[in-house]
Amino acid sequence: MPDVIEIQHPLIQHKLTLMRRKDTSTAKFRNLMREISMLLGYELTREAPVSYDDIETPVGRMKAPVLEKKKMALVSILRAGQGIIDGMLQLMPTARVGHIGLYRQADATSIVEYYFKLPPDISSRDALAVDPMLATGQSAVAAVSRLKEANPRSVRFVCLLAAPEGIAHFHRHHPDVPVYTAAIDEGLNEKKYIVPGMGDAGDRLFGTL
Ligand code: URA
Repeated sequence: MPDVIEIQHPLIQHKLTLMRRKDTSTAKFRNLMREISMLLGYELTREAPVSYDDIETPVGRMKAPVLEKKKMALVSILRAGQGIIDGMLQLMPTARVGHIGLYRQADATSIVEYYFKLPPDISSRDALAVDPMLATGQSAVAAVSRLKEANPRSVRFVCLLAAPEGIAHFHRHHPDVPVYTAAIDEGLNEKKYIVPGMGDAGDRLFGTL
């Protein structure tokens, strides 16, 4: 069974509720996404490997844990992924960032890539592919397929909200990639929006409603 990890921390759930409210302003929405992303990043780095440095405190010497370098690559699925990157970078300022830009063609049958740039040393990094919404899963599948071609050390997918249909579609194509989400909603409506969801995350983030 592929992994789906629902991170149900009360702080995350509270902030998610504020994001879902339709009267939440763009500025608040943006700030909440940054804060939730920091909290998700905290959970996602729980198992991050550490090495030990010899340090001197004002009182004595010790071998103290430090995060191993050259670990993480954050990969933003444009454009709404940018909202998650901002928060995660506050937590992991040395992470490298890749971008994958995709759009669905008007006939909704195929995905077109318009931008693709990853850190050159991605093969020695663990990649977190981020997009706030896992709805149909089509762009997540396409983005992760492209990301895998660059051979990162590992891949995880992170979102704020997921639809069961999106998770199923994603794991049909990428059963090896764990999905981390703050909530799994009821499903998709006829316009492929997550229900009850939070609307168009990109539009709400950038104020382009
Ligand atoms: N993308 C969004 O931003 N919102 C949805 O509900 C589905 C896809």
